[in-house]
Amino acid sequence: MGKKFLRKKEQREKKKIARERVETLFTLAERVFPYSPELANRYVEIALAVQQKAKIRLPRKWKRRYCKRCHSFLVPGVNARVRLRSKPYPHVVIKCLNCGHIMRYPYLREKKEKRREKT
Ligand SMILES: [Zn+2]
Repeated sequence: MGKKFLRKKEQREKKKIARERVETLFTLAERVFPYSPELANRYVEIALAVQQKAKIRLPRKWKRRYCKRCHSFLVPGVNARVRLRSKPYPHVVIKCLNCGHIMRYPYLREKKEKRREKT
């Protein structure tokens, strides 16, 4: 009795902690990237492990900041090339310059994000 509830509550708490850890790890990755890209990649690996273990979603903010194939932390203009394409549908093409992996994301959301970043 009450055990199930406790477990649920515990899980919610775990997920919350996991989300905070993922956020911290990606923030660290961004911070250390300029002088230690390898360390940044380590942080990404750990963040992804935490995310997978806790079965949480990655915040949209960080979703496109790493390569889906080699898990490198990506910085546009440094180790990632970002291009906008309108055909066959508006999308952003992000190419990881470490491994050459190409990722595509619908464009409309990106536009909204850009706007938010500016403010
Ligand atoms: Zn890659």
